[in-house]
Amino acid sequence: MAADIETAVVGGGVIGLAIARALARAGHEVMLLERHSRVGTETSARNSEVIHAGIYYPPGSLRAQLCVGGKEMLYAFCAENGVTYKRCGKLLVATQADEIPKLEAIAATAAKNGVGDLKRLSADDVRALEPQVACVAGYLSPSTGIIDSHGLMQALEGHIAASGCTVVLNTEVIGIAAGDDAFTLETLSGSERGSLTARNLVLAAGLGATALGRMLAWRAGYTQPETYPARGHYFALSGRAPFQHLVYPMPIGAWLGVHLTLDVSGRARFGPDIEWCDSVDYAFDEQGGKRLARFESEIRRYWPALPAGALNPDSVGVRPKLYREGEPVADFAIHGPRQHGIERLVALYGIESPGLTSSLAIGDLVTRLLCEGHERP
Ligand SMILES: Cc1cc2nc3c(=O)[nH]c(=O)nc-3n(C[C@H](O)[C@H](O)[C@H](O)COP(=O)(O)OP(=O)(O)OC[C@H]3O[C@@H](n4cnc5c(N)ncnc54)[C@H](O)[C@@H]3O)c2cc1C
Repeated sequence: MAADIETAVVGGGVIGLAIARALARAGHEVMLLERHSRVGTETSARNSEVIHAGIYYPPGSLRAQLCVGGKEMLYAFCAENGVTYKRCGKLLVATQADEIPKLEAIAATAAKNGVGDLKRLSADDVRALEPQVACVAGYLSPSTGIIDSHGLMQALEGHIAASGCTVVLNTEVIGIAAGDDAFTLETLSGSERGSLTARNLVLAAGLGATALGRMLAWRAGYTQPETYPARGHYFALSGRAPFQHLVYPMPIGAWLGVHLTLDVSGRARFGPDIEWCDSVDYAFDEQGGKRLARFESEIRRYWPALPAGALNPDSVGVRPKLYREGEPVADFAIHGPRQHGIERLVALYGIESPGLTSSLAIGDLVTRLLCEGHERP
């Protein structure tokens, strides 16, 4: 039995879009299915829009490799496709002497990851670049930048359409069955149920990845990863930001600390903080003013002149973590037949930061996983 389509991608965030584009470029006939009325309204719309250099991640991890490779692919894609971006650079700062060993350890990790352009700075060097930043030492990461993430997703959608492939909106996948030759997907569009068959299947459902995967009968011996949401709140700075670079304090475990990011229009935001939670909730919780007080005190460690009353509650993003609070940090999980044993299926879990930076590299990786070792129909 011939399948209705060659390859279905479930999830229209930046990762599903980048995968669909890469598969279309490789000659696949692709249909991308997204449950909302627009692409990129969940995690891909609620992040810091930073093109990360690849500084912090464990050497050899997928996060390190895909970030370092994906960063240059993303810069090139933006330049070729008119997506707004800026290689503004980032300052990584130690605000007290006892943080210097951590600062140096991060620089060593960056070098192992192939990030060879970090520049060591004294406190005076940092002040020369950013007069309002207080610290005892720092590094400049020149290859860190910022991107218009919505412009990126629009451009990816345009590439998919130009290849003759389709993005189907308002369509939720509610059932999946793996057959010998094809997957059958049950769908819900409004109140209308439907079904279609696809020879290859990619699950790129972000926070919904584990729920989606539960629809499949996995082979014995494979346990699909669990997703644990962790919220991150942002405050926006009112008025003009007195900064040209992003500013990051020392991380606390896997959390990058309350850092300063700029968007391509020059607006400054602080955050995201981290709050483990049981379900996905985008409501901003002010905690009766406690959250603001915590942000102000963290920010004043590197920006003592932060004016009182300058921060306004902004957005909330939710990270799809693959570990619980206190557990070892997990890598991206991009599982193909070698992991789960189901031919022609790739499922992605835990694509948190630096997923946006890595998106194009992930697209290429998934394409290789689907194309390698399989006869094309
Ligand atoms: C607070 C925060 C800050 C971040 N900052 C950065 C950053 O600065 N730089 C960086 O590189 N990365 C950053 N990231 C990571 C980056 O945002 C993510 O890696 C990326 O957006 C994940 O994209 P996605 O497509 O996997 O998920 P999503 O954008 O969540 O897309 C998944 C899509 O799947 C759809 N879906 C789910 N289930 C179904 C179903 N059953 N049927 C149909 N559709 C379905 C959803 O509707 C959704 O649109 C950040 C993440 C967070 C949370």
